[in-house]
Amino acid sequence: MIATGDAVLVINAGSSSIKFELFDAQQVPGALYAGQVEGIGAAPRFSAKDAAGARLADQRWSEGGAPGDHGAALRVIIGWLAGVLAGRRIAAIGHRVVHGGPDLAAPVLVDATVMERLGALASLAPLHQPHNLAGIAAAAEHFPGVPQVACFDTAFHRAHAWEADTYALPPEFYARGIRRYGFHGLSYEYIARSLAQTDPALAAGRVVVAHLGNGASLCAMHDGRSIDSTMGFTALDGVPMGTRSGQIDPGVLLHLMASDGMDTTAVQKLLYGNAGLKGMSGISQDVRDLEASADPRAAAALSHFCWRVRREVGALAAALGGIDALVFTAGIGENAASIRARICAGLGFLGIEVDPALNDANAPDISAPGATTRVLVRATDEEGMIARHVLALLQRSEKA
Ligand code: ADP
Repeated sequence: MIATGDAVLVINAGSSSIKFELFDAQQVPGALYAGQVEGIGAAPRFSAKDAAGARLADQRWSEGGAPGDHGAALRVIIGWLAGVLAGRRIAAIGHRVVHGGPDLAAPVLVDATVMERLGALASLAPLHQPHNLAGIAAAAEHFPGVPQVACFDTAFHRAHAWEADTYALPPEFYARGIRRYGFHGLSYEYIARSLAQTDPALAAGRVVVAHLGNGASLCAMHDGRSIDSTMGFTALDGVPMGTRSGQIDPGVLLHLMASDGMDTTAVQKLLYGNAGLKGMSGISQDVRDLEASADPRAAAALSHFCWRVRREVGALAAALGGIDALVFTAGIGENAASIRARICAGLGFLGIEVDPALNDANAPDISAPGATTRVLVRATDEEGMIARHVLALLQRSEKA
């Protein structure tokens, strides 16, 4: 039962960071505090800010005592939260979990059986799932009896038609889970929801959302539901990303393994960590660095990125049978006007045309006057979406 002053904590545990947001349960989605421990296992740094963006904490450890693993990092966060909770009770904790497998299409209350089930999915997302689960285990240990809710990046895509999700392999591969799952689902769900509130007619139509951050993907939505996405079995597929390759001919990998003797670890390192904008430019994974650089490799990396994203907009418009709106979101999508302009250039055949002044201002609607397809810029809020899911699940379980 949610009481006045109760808080919901949202935890997003990644490979080397734990991000958190604390919400007043009655004022979701406006977070009271947000922060993170980054650099876990290397040079950890804890930072936190309040709702107005004022920095409340910024700590590094030079003389020992640094959190060495996820459990210790969470202890740092909890220790800090204790000072700002001011008598609030943490009523529930929501966790971002990358993989819900083929069956989990909605958030779930975590118990030992669910943990076991999610653990079994680790082989589908070995670089992310174990860290997500470590976050849940550490939170459950610190807050015994507080409901822990797992929210999945894959869940929003679970209603795809078989044609969209299968690979062209014998059916037994699909049956054992080798299929296209799609990710960034919490972000797409948030965008679908916010569009339904601000522009219900558009939300009911055919919308392509481009989530362009360090991780990047695009989603085709019809009437607020995902019908296809550029990410597949893993979060490696689709468009190039900060350090990930995006789609690559599997024949290239066979060639690298057969001719260069690369093993699984070497291929994994290349595709996840040394490809994408960083690998192509040799400079940085950050669009801001590349835009500021005079090195031709930086310009080349950005050109390729824009080309591939534009191609996927076209592919997803084809999957939808047309397009009523293109929505840009996440770090690059929300802030990089020149990248948006370059992606949209050449999409006039889909009715897409951007107004340069509105685009430069990161306006919410950057469509040129008279353009038949709307082009929107929306901030995403995965943590706010998780907090909403947590409350909805608590309310449902109270009624049951
Ligand atoms: P994550 O996937 O880690 O959540 P974000 O959605 O925060 O990432 O996106 C981070 C990326 O957004 C940065 O690496 C950078 O490339 C890009 N970005 C952020 N702000 C800007 C900006 N003002 N101009 C251009 N690119 C930006």
